[in-house]
Amino acid sequence: MERLSKIFGSLVFNDNVMEERLPRDIYLVLKNTIHQGKPLDIKIANVVANTMKDWAIENGATHFTHWFQPMTGITAEKHDSFISPTSDGNVIMEFSGKELIKGEPDGSSFPSGGLRSTFEARGYTVWDPTSYAFIRDTTLCIPTAFCSYSGQSLDKKTPLLKSMEALDKTAVRLLNLLGYDDVTRVITTVGPEQEYFLIDKKLFKKRMDLKFCQRTLFGAKPPKGQEMEDHYFGSIKPRVAEFMKELDLELWKLGVLSKTKHNEGAPSQHELAPIFTVTNVATDHNQITMDLMKRIADKHGLVCLLHEKPFAGVNGSGKHNNWSLSTNKGKNLLEPGKKPYENKTFLLFFSAIIKAVDEYQDLLRLSVASAGNDHRLGGNEAPPAIISMFIGSDLKKILRCIENDLPYSEELLNRMDIDVDVLPSFMKDTTDRNRTSPFAFTGNKFEFRMLGSTCNIACPNTILNTIAANSLCEYADILEKSTNIDDTIFEIIKDTMKKHSRIIFNGNNYAQEWVIEAERRGLSNFKTAVDVLPHYVDEQNIKLFEKFNIYTKEEVQSRCDILLEQYSKTLNIEALTMIDMAKKDIIPSVCAYSKSLTDTALNKKSLSSDIDCSLEISLVKKLSSLNACLDIKIEKLNTSLLESKNYPNPKENAEFYRDNIKVQMQELRAIADELESIVGKEFWPFPTYADLLFSI
Ligand code: ADP
Ligand code: MG
Repeated sequence: MERLSKIFGSLVFNDNVMEERLPRDIYLVLKNTIHQGKPLDIKIANVVANTMKDWAIENGATHFTHWFQPMTGITAEKHDSFISPTSDGNVIMEFSGKELIKGEPDGSSFPSGGLRSTFEARGYTVWDPTSYAFIRDTTLCIPTAFCSYSGQSLDKKTPLLKSMEALDKTAVRLLNLLGYDDVTRVITTVGPEQEYFLIDKKLFKKRMDLKFCQRTLFGAKPPKGQEMEDHYFGSIKPRVAEFMKELDLELWKLGVLSKTKHNEGAPSQHELAPIFTVTNVATDHNQITMDLMKRIADKHGLVCLLHEKPFAGVNGSGKHNNWSLSTNKGKNLLEPGKKPYENKTFLLFFSAIIKAVDEYQDLLRLSVASAGNDHRLGGNEAPPAIISMFIGSDLKKILRCIENDLPYSEELLNRMDIDVDVLPSFMKDTTDRNRTSPFAFTGNKFEFRMLGSTCNIACPNTILNTIAANSLCEYADILEKSTNIDDTIFEIIKDTMKKHSRIIFNGNNYAQEWVIEAERRGLSNFKTAVDVLPHYVDEQNIKLFEKFNIYTKEEVQSRCDILLEQYSKTLNIEALTMIDMAKKDIIPSVCAYSKSLTDTALNKKSLSSDIDCSLEISLVKKLSSLNACLDIKIEKLNTSLLESKNYPNPKENAEFYRDNIKVQMQELRAIADELESIVGKEFWPFPTYADLLFSI
């Protein structure tokens, strides 16, 4: 292998390449634009575009695309080649500043939630120069934001960039008030840990549910699952190791800081964690990572499943969003230092996050809500649907001291026993971490653990940044009027703790008692995506988004509708797939097996009337009655799918899917799974869980 330092970022038009290739004055202007988020002059853009094109062609590119993240959550691209005809019938390779800065894809097929009528279907994409362009295969990909003609954002990236700006402004304002005059910029950093499954491609192709829905809709429990706990951190199988090696290499070429890889809890489940970086770049990198996982798996005869719950009965896949804030001076604002009780800046920022999480539990919950993630949250493998924060006992004691006006000395802290959790504390050792918490402080960052594996991290981070900005803004308003900053800081923390300490919970989030305790504390518990999504448009939330210019009221409404529609559409595809598989595969297989049993019995009888045929008879009876039940369930589900059309309103439609379709799908599955457990292996039409999970 070539030296890693040479490979890393070799397909990225990054700062080094820009400095090396652009004229010095152009480079400095561009850099300034990137750092200060200023618009780019067209003359500068022309030079940058030309340089970018030359570099891309040298590296094998023939096409370019504006790469964006519409509301589908995945990335979209439309490829244009660099060629441009000349008057003498030849072609030259061309790429203008205008093409770099702005694109006009026909956006009518992307979800807009009513923001764009088809007659003004065109949206436009705008270059996000803070995320570097890169080459994938033979295409130069230019990260962009996607907007409608009237300027409404149609993607996940634009609000994220706006939320980063809001947080930057308010955090800088607060820090300046605290006396940090040299702080001019605050960024949020993110390191997303990505879980996924790898299964054999040949087996994948034999299952329509995996092909259409990325998850199994049928499947009886295998004799062995994850109970032996032998897969987590287990040795990596050679085929998987080859895949991981190539994945790392390709990610490194694209400048993605892939760092850790290991096996996860379930058989065939794995994880990849990158080193953290600025949030918008981390978002792009996570999209690239998921995309490459799929492509590279395919090359190795594998399929990468990113669905939150590909298999019932074994762990699903999530994504841990590690999040922090740091200044242009390199200071991590969530670093407690050796003496956190003396670190006022840390305590103030920390308490701002406590306030934010408590005040906007619903927004955090809905930022991770999807049909797929509903299978995980609360399933004793992932955090519950209730938002709470783990902060460790030391920090909790410090904050309690401030809240109760107690002097805080190390000695007192050690003597104090103020753990008020009703449940036994999960972790005794403060250096250890509570893995059951949905939102845990892990030393110098918060780890938001409710994200599903397919989640585009732009959404949860937009919410995190915005709600944090809101707390910081309110703090800054108070401090601005204060005559004694130090005293006011403690007053603010005290007040926050009095109002919001209910959100802190260091105990076991998987315990049933917690659900009751959380209710007593008045915390919300939105069990499904459909329960929480309508809260997007609550007055308090719209006010927040408008205050920081993240979304207009119409944009929030459209997002809410799109997400609810996505929920219904997902379940609709799943239900139709189930019906198809049950009708065309399961019922005929059961009939074939019954016939074979019947033939056997008849043959036996014709041989001699006293041969025992009780087994065949009882099996055929059972199979026939289960098959008949299956048929009834199929018809019922079909009828309900038709009935769903009576509910055109996205919320009511999604509720219908949740309360009727989903329940019936479970009933249908239960019968099919029982059939699977009695039908002979050679008759069953699909690879089983045992085949799929232990295939590599
Ligand atoms: P775990 O035990 O959960 O695997 P690690 O300490 O290995 O935790 O870190 C997990 C992730 O957190 C990594 O992606 C890492 O880069 C990221 N991370 C570490 N520090 C920060 C930070 N200041 N901001 C954002 N992410 C961070
Ligand atoms: Mg983690």
